[in-house]
Amino acid sequence: MFVLFCPHCGEKREEEEFGYGGEAFIPRPSKPETLDDDAWGDYLFMRKNPKGWHWEMWSHNTGCRKFFVVKRNTATNAIAGSWTLSDGRKAYDAEGGAT
Ligand SMILES: [Zn+2]
Repeated sequence: MFVLFCPHCGEKREEEEFGYGGEAFIPRPSKPETLDDDAWGDYLFMRKNPKGWHWEMWSHNTGCRKFFVVKRNTATNAIAGSWTLSDGRKAYDAEGGAT
């Protein structure tokens, strides 16, 4: 169990109030009509599963119901930060998009 900070509400809450929304910042193919079935399937279904720092989407299900971005260590559940989507994108890009 861990505590997340919702940047929309400005409050720290228990993990149970939130819903995991998956990997953040998955690049959408610029021309999806040019992808073959395997490449399209990879885009839709294949996700990273790192042991360590990971950029994730979370939603505040029992609060404001808005999505935000969290950088979480999947091995320790340490939280490096949480941001609104636009601020999270800036932080992600500032790291070079690394996870
Ligand atoms: Zn909230």
